Amino acid sequence: MRLWTVRDGFVIDGFNARSDDSDEIEGGSAMWYCDKCGGLIEDPKQGWVQWVSYYNAEGRPTGRDLQLVHKTRECRFNSAVEFAKDGGHVYDMGLDHFLRWPDGLMELLFLASEGELPLESVLEMIKRLHIPNYEAARPFFEEAKREGVIEPNMGPGYYFQSDLEAIISWARKSGRIGNEWFTPSELHPGWPDSRHGKGVDR
Ligand SMILES: [Zn+2]
Repeated sequence: MRLWTVRDGFVIDGFNARSDDSDEIEGGSAMWYCDKCGGLIEDPKQGWVQWVSYYNAEGRPTGRDLQLVHKTRECRFNSAVEFAKDGGHVYDMGLDHFLRWPDGLMELLFLASEGELPLESVLEMIKRLHIPNYEAARPFFEEAKREGVIEPNMGPGYYFQSDLEAIISWARKSGRIGNEWFTPSELHPGWPDSRHGKGVDR
């Protein structure tokens, strides 16, 4: 399973194996932005990953509006409202569930393979939940590119850790975010290599 070791809101050691088979996510929480209110989800147990599934004109099950939100009434889908749109039903799973590694990642991959939800939306959720630093840097991708903070090597939306770390550092230094999001190298020299455990040499 994935062990969350968190300091100041950053997962610094996400891939250590554990000997027991406990489901518990340890060490508090990393953070995510709520798609509805824009505020921070500071504990995986406070978050829903949810979407709506309806039957399209050809009678095929179709998903829409995959989102990560607080579990509160203000932020989560209102089932009656969603049903009224297209007869769709709300599906949700706890954020903590999808964070479990590797099973949570496998479930998200399965969700992508089913093809009901738009593929891009599932890929984005996978990045948000399973790629370190992605969520913290995400609000600033376009601005960081314009400002010359990064010159990405991959296509839009796909970034190496060095780019994501550069964005977070820049966002902190320029006051765009506070100290709640830390870049891992400042906290944990050698990261992310350390996540593979001892014996990783470069
Ligand atoms: Zn919210």
